[in-house]
Amino acid sequence: MNMKERSTFRSGGSPLFVLGQERSPVAHLYIHVPFCVRKCVYCAFASRPITPEAENIYLDALEKELRAVRSRLLPRTVFIGGGTPSCLSIAGLERLMGLVQGLDLSRLEEFSVEMNPATVDQSKARIFKTGGVNRVSLGAQSFNNDILKQLGRIHTAAQVTETYDLLRSEGFEHISLDIIFAVPGQTLDDLNTTLEALIALRSEHLSCYEMTYEEGTPLTAWARRTGFRPDEALSCRMYDTLLERLEQEGLVRYEISNFARPGRECMHNIAYWRGADYYGAGPAACSLLDGVRYSHPRDLTDYSRSICATQPNKSGLCWEGWEADQISPLARAGEIAGVGLRMSRGWRFDEFYQATGFRLEEQWPEEMEKIYLRGDGEFFEGGFRLNRKGLRFADLAAEEFIKLEERD
Ligand code: SF4
Repeated sequence: MNMKERSTFRSGGSPLFVLGQERSPVAHLYIHVPFCVRKCVYCAFASRPITPEAENIYLDALEKELRAVRSRLLPRTVFIGGGTPSCLSIAGLERLMGLVQGLDLSRLEEFSVEMNPATVDQSKARIFKTGGVNRVSLGAQSFNNDILKQLGRIHTAAQVTETYDLLRSEGFEHISLDIIFAVPGQTLDDLNTTLEALIALRSEHLSCYEMTYEEGTPLTAWARRTGFRPDEALSCRMYDTLLERLEQEGLVRYEISNFARPGRECMHNIAYWRGADYYGAGPAACSLLDGVRYSHPRDLTDYSRSICATQPNKSGLCWEGWEADQISPLARAGEIAGVGLRMSRGWRFDEFYQATGFRLEEQWPEEMEKIYLRGDGEFFEGGFRLNRKGLRFADLAAEEFIKLEERD
């Protein structure tokens, strides 16, 4: 097995994405909304300021894309993320909900939308509710106004609580809150204050992300300029604090950064972590279909051009400008092994075999042994998982499985 088995190509003459009904339908749909009111200083996601004109260009192209792929989609989960989906206009949101409603939703179980607390009012909450959204991911990030300002967030701590209460009063029964920890200058006391405010809201789900320094962001430029170095020991203490306090409250960590009350885990993200196929619509969205990873152009104009220039034909659909990365089955299984270990439950060997057609215990015994010997993982009856320390550094563990593709 070597790297030559993975090839990247741009869409050209032959169809990449076959529309035929004979293939099994895709059960997980992601829709990327590429707009934000203002860019946060740490953010590298594809988003730009919203204008009425850009919103129309986006929705026209998205409509065309979803119409073209509709016959291959039978979603159990839909996730609208971004960007800030809730910053679309009222008319834009109604149109977006209409596009989703135009799909076959007979199997739909979970419909999530990301929202920013400063961009939701009662009218928008009602459009989401009537449109079938049953799970909200609300970006709180912190309950300290100074930190929110430092991060470039457009909302205050009070707005998080107000929006949360509004969503509850509009009947949303599954709300997830996002926070960021290890922000430069943040103390353990500050994290504890944020944590207690979060816990008081009693959401069903929490995502707690450690601050990362992404290329091209103002935060990373600042860190370089000032020679700032994150305090790794403090970050570890913060993570341990989160873990202990949230578990006391009945929020169980089921993935490195995600905590849920029993039965309230995010089905859509679990599908990614267990290796399911998914379709991503919108600029910068990625899809994983039949062992090929596709990426849309990141820029809105390029995305719109590629969608509008494409005509599906009988044999398939070849979006102009799509990047496609063909992954060999074993390389893909290695990725799934590593990504799946982000979940606290790890892999049961039979479950892994069902998901990939490869045996974890036969293909990667040395890698698991290595993780076990350095004290990061444990074998259990019929499977393997990372332990508390290993989960903190799960990306390192994942590399062990992905390296396999470099072997001859
Ligand atoms: S609101 Fe979210 S997507 Fe938009 S800039 Fe901030 S972090 Fe990025």
